[in-house]
Amino acid sequence: MSQDDCIFCQIVDGEIPSRTVFEDDVSMAFLDANPLAPGHTLVIPKRHHETLDDVPEDAAAHLFGVLHRLTPAVEHAVDADGSNVAFNNGEAAGQEVPHVHAHVIPRFHDDGGNPIHAVAGRRPDLSEEELDEIAADIESGH
Ligand code: 5GP
Ligand code: ZN
Repeated sequence: MSQDDCIFCQIVDGEIPSRTVFEDDVSMAFLDANPLAPGHTLVIPKRHHETLDDVPEDAAAHLFGVLHRLTPAVEHAVDADGSNVAFNNGEAAGQEVPHVHAHVIPRFHDDGGNPIHAVAGRRPDLSEEELDEIAADIESGH
């Protein structure tokens, strides 16, 4: 399944060049064209799925396996002190390319960046009852 107007499908099909660092039947990883840090890498399933919940569980598990192996290699390549590994999952979360992708962003002690806590907007003030309700809804919803 590939979508003609999708940049990442075109990368998978070799129609747009990329600095590919890993490829197998199911997934692919390449350097981000506008890196937030040296070594900033994107890891994608080859099939076109927009968000994480669209990805079948076996492909999602495979993707996590690739992330697990690739992240230390990315860190090592640029001598990073750590990394943020994250998905912008959906437009509201800042996803611009509608083909699901994980960012591996190398981090350095003195890079002036922020932890992942900095990505959200206003913090909610939730009561104990509201927290209980949310937890129960999540528990029953998967
Ligand atoms: P998003 O905001 O969707 O999570 O991130 C999309 C990422 O894809 C951005 O970091 C952007 O720099 C990267 N990107 C967009 N177009 C291309 C491209 O044609 N090639 C590569 N390698 N990266 C791209
Ligand atoms: Zn696509």
